[in-house]
Amino acid sequence: MPELPEVETVRAILEKRVVGKTVRDVLIRYEKIIKNTSSEEFAARLKGAKLTDISRRGKYLLFIFDKAILLSHLRMEGKYLLAADNPYSKHEHVVFFFTDGSELRYHDMRKFGTMHLFETTDLISVMESEPLKKMGLEPFDDRLTPDYLAGKIANSKRSVKSILLDQTIISGLGNIYVDEVLFLSRIHPAAPGGTLDRASLKLLIENVRIVLNKAIAYGGTTVKSFQATDEVSGRFQNYLMVHTKAECPSCHRPVSKIRVAGRGTYLCEHCQIKPAGADYL
Ligand SMILES: [Zn+2]
Repeated sequence: MPELPEVETVRAILEKRVVGKTVRDVLIRYEKIIKNTSSEEFAARLKGAKLTDISRRGKYLLFIFDKAILLSHLRMEGKYLLAADNPYSKHEHVVFFFTDGSELRYHDMRKFGTMHLFETTDLISVMESEPLKKMGLEPFDDRLTPDYLAGKIANSKRSVKSILLDQTIISGLGNIYVDEVLFLSRIHPAAPGGTLDRASLKLLIENVRIVLNKAIAYGGTTVKSFQATDEVSGRFQNYLMVHTKAECPSCHRPVSKIRVAGRGTYLCEHCQIKPAGADYL
């Protein structure tokens, strides 16, 4: 599942390859991808629109046109392909035709991805509308501080893993990077959030930024079906410390796989000590 670094990688590639192009037409082959308008209106609104920028909020891509803003979430397996002449596969659900003859195809094996179209160019109003308005702070936002986190999780019995996965607290983190951040911080994933002191929260925030920055630098992680584009694979999987790993890189004991917050969770039970009384919430 693409997380923030993968979405950022896709954003950077698309920015180089499609910004500046003008939509000639849109073909919608699976209507349910489009959430807040009809496919006819979606296509009509984008015809003749020029793509001026591509931004990101959490795991959402924002295609900013000169007369609309398109919000795209890749969910489990969505990806964009830059293609022109090969026949459509059954997994290509939305095709953007540009006036220069090139095409951008949205490919999604599981069909969980979503698109929302806003008839405005005002980014702030889109940020304040569903589905973005409930999102928590970006990991690199200066307002993400130990005090902010403490305010969100005071006395919380929820596991720290579940708190870091909560998109209304911090946006963009998913299963892979949360495992990595908790290992780097030497914090057990099932530790209740309310037990973490300010120093631990500060360490967590620092490590969120370290792990995400490194993942972005390596083009994200290519796992199973996710690829940044048809031509770029992420390389961060070569630098994972515990997620999907067999041996702890620090103490060389075996890495454990348990369930926390309903997710398969990798940790070193020697380096990440479980606090007394913590359940696998
Ligand atoms: Zn270890």
